Amino acid sequence: MEDAKNLNKAYDPKQVEEKLYKMWTENGYFTPEADYSKEPYTIVIPPPNITGQLHMGHALDNTIQDILIRWRRMQGYSTLWLPGTDHASIATEAKIVDSLAKEGKTKYDLGREGFLRKAWDWKEEYGGRIINQLKKLGCSCDWTRERFTLDEGCSKAVSKVFMSLYEKGLIYRGERIINWCPSCKTSISDIETIYDDEKGHFWHIKYQIKDLDDFIEIATTRPETMLGDTAVAVHPEDERYKHLIGKTVILPLLNKEIPIIADEYVDMEFGTGAVKITPAHDPNDFEVGLRHGLPMPRVMNDDGTINELGGKYCGLDRYAARRQIVSDLQESGLLVIVKDHDHSVGHCQRCNTTVEPILSKQWFVKMKPLAEPAIEVVKNGTIKFVPDRFSKIYFNWMENIQDWCISRQLWWGHRIPAYYCSDCGEIIVTIDPQETCGKCGGKLKQDEDTLDTWFSSALWPFSTLGWPDNTEDLKYFYPTSVLVTGYDIIFFWVARMIFSAMENMKEEPFKYVYIHGIVRDSEGRKMSKSLGNGIDPLDVIEKHGADALRFNLISGNSPGNDMRFFWERVEAFSNFANKIWNASRFVLMNIDDDFDYENILHSYRDALTTADYWILSKLNRLKREVTENMEKFELGIAAQKIYDFIWFEFCDWYIELVKPRLYSEEAESKTIAQATLTYVLRDSIKLLHPFMPFITEEIYMHLPQTSHSIVISQWPQYDEAFDASSQERNMEIIMEAIKGIRNIRAEMNVVPSRKSNTIIISDREEVINAMMEGTPYIQKLAYSSEVILKTTKENIPDGAVSIIIEGAEIFLPLEDLIDKEKEIERLNKEKERLEKELERVKQKLSNEKFLSKAPAAVIEEEKDKEKKYSELMVKVLDRLKGLE
Ligand SMILES: [Zn+2]
Ligand SMILES: [Zn+2]
Repeated sequence: MEDAKNLNKAYDPKQVEEKLYKMWTENGYFTPEADYSKEPYTIVIPPPNITGQLHMGHALDNTIQDILIRWRRMQGYSTLWLPGTDHASIATEAKIVDSLAKEGKTKYDLGREGFLRKAWDWKEEYGGRIINQLKKLGCSCDWTRERFTLDEGCSKAVSKVFMSLYEKGLIYRGERIINWCPSCKTSISDIETIYDDEKGHFWHIKYQIKDLDDFIEIATTRPETMLGDTAVAVHPEDERYKHLIGKTVILPLLNKEIPIIADEYVDMEFGTGAVKITPAHDPNDFEVGLRHGLPMPRVMNDDGTINELGGKYCGLDRYAARRQIVSDLQESGLLVIVKDHDHSVGHCQRCNTTVEPILSKQWFVKMKPLAEPAIEVVKNGTIKFVPDRFSKIYFNWMENIQDWCISRQLWWGHRIPAYYCSDCGEIIVTIDPQETCGKCGGKLKQDEDTLDTWFSSALWPFSTLGWPDNTEDLKYFYPTSVLVTGYDIIFFWVARMIFSAMENMKEEPFKYVYIHGIVRDSEGRKMSKSLGNGIDPLDVIEKHGADALRFNLISGNSPGNDMRFFWERVEAFSNFANKIWNASRFVLMNIDDDFDYENILHSYRDALTTADYWILSKLNRLKREVTENMEKFELGIAAQKIYDFIWFEFCDWYIELVKPRLYSEEAESKTIAQATLTYVLRDSIKLLHPFMPFITEEIYMHLPQTSHSIVISQWPQYDEAFDASSQERNMEIIMEAIKGIRNIRAEMNVVPSRKSNTIIISDREEVINAMMEGTPYIQKLAYSSEVILKTTKENIPDGAVSIIIEGAEIFLPLEDLIDKEKEIERLNKEKERLEKELERVKQKLSNEKFLSKAPAAVIEEEKDKEKKYSELMVKVLDRLKGLE
């Protein structure tokens, strides 16, 4: 497509990335059709929050998805990567509440409608930010199909699911103990509650038994909840208390009579064996309350203050009330003892406020019946977790699942499609808004609450394809192929998508769940705002380009495992890009614009040299292995293999090996070398394309015979005809010889301009033949003036250095190439240095203090040093002996 010669001198990602991304989208490469002559391959993006900014986790997650999508697209699938964003109910609402607070306003000042207008404005302004950042990363999403969890279609899907679950009795409204965040002033689900161990206390309190000169002692970690006590419970078999069952105690401070009841829930062995029962403020007490028909007074307001039922404590914040209550109890002599006690306390995932378990009327999804098919579909392998170990975590959670509280006391989100009649109490759940009660004609009022954000994202794999309408996209692209996500949202999202899909689609939402780890900083710490150790992917792209960032995130990464971020590695991959660029420039400078390399390679098949066969055979196997690795989601391994091939085999060896042919007068050999170079370059950058999309496209466009983008080029396929194992082996023998000779020359400080004879001795015919063919390579790359092949060890010059390789012995008469005096002097200096180093290491390793205090890795490092220095010492002494 472009002139082969005009590849810029140096690779500059900035000049290339934006231009190419624009070209890709303008040509519609990312927009597939429901083409029944092809197989579909679908990924739905984990929708980032509209409040979000691209962080390293997104960068990793989306790089993985883009690699899979680009690879399958090249394989000929009709690939859809469906993008979109999540309205992120609680996070977005909090952002807007914060910005209002700066103007001195609350959301109530604006009212529901005004607040929602503000939220949509905010979404219009900032909601697209993360989408643009994904484009910078090179994500080949189909932006024409972009969705939003609050858009019309997704909202329709939400109402439809809500209604159908309600009709089946799988959604119900009820008073239950939920997790309440007094700061966000909303209910939150169990998984939005983060439990941490905290230092706390057990306050032991005496409750006076009515009409008896006796007390019953209970202990609590939250004394303020005693204002809501409606009973004291003991175990029915507890001999200490049997005679008290049915009597009443006087609740201190409020001076209220409450009964002593018997319930098997009470653990006789724990504490005094008597417990206070606060049904509205504790999930277990709630159950006890239900069993015994106890009153369930709620003594706390939504903001965590005590309400009017709390008597003189009314209006106090829960912790102020706690202090006051403890001091009052102490004064009245009812506080027996205070014991330190570590216990686990729930915190709001969003704001870290201590969560209050509180009785509240909320909407719930009945989980047990929904969990069953969702467990089955993973058990029978229809959905596979990669790596498999995450399925255990999934089962464990699904098998112990609790009902899901889905109502939130927020405004930004899907409003619950339930309407209440204030006259007759009728509840109507419907997709179409209703104003009058069908039963009594009274006025209906819609539920004020919205749904948990995850309720809509649970429908994402099918709502985005058009469900509940039976669209072409839904028919063709569903079920999706793989879901890529981090292990932190298996419960929030993955599990919920699975049961939602099984319930509504009767078919799995995806076939694979690829779970990746998190990106940590170079010291292995989580990247966080408070530590200030976060690295902005956009900074990395700015400095080194998107390709280097992507390659860094993938190479060495394996499913399910965390990785560390090192700037040095990004730099190394930026060097890799430069290496490819320079190699490509070299190839392109040596061929014509219309060079028909593929045909030439085909017609001159019999005239290939050992080196040509070798690189083609290696490349051929690479195609097979990389494809196999990709199929097993071993992207990191695939990346490493492509890197090694391009860097070492292609650039370091093959290009060097063919240079003499490119400059020679032998037309045929030259043409074959050019054709092989071009072909290998083309297929290697194709293999690399999913990982480094930009640089590979820029090079590909400059290759001869290119009529379209690399994005839609064909994925390189393994071809048995390219297998050349005997030539490969011969080439490896030659390479061994060259490496051996170069090493010893380097060790002995022989400059490349001083050439020496090379005598190779082998009694194996195939080795002699290989070396004969390799003679020009040995001459060029191992600086040999003449290569002499022999079958026996005769007439070897005195003092020649020898190298043993597999199947042969090589002798180099280097004696006259080096300045003997100078070399002895250098070696003596080296000997002195090594002696000092060895002494230092040995001293360290015999130091008891060091050995007992240093980390194992440091000690290991010192031992390695000792070994390395000792080995070098042997070599130096050997060399000295040889020279003297
Ligand atoms: Zn909160
Ligand atoms: Zn009514």
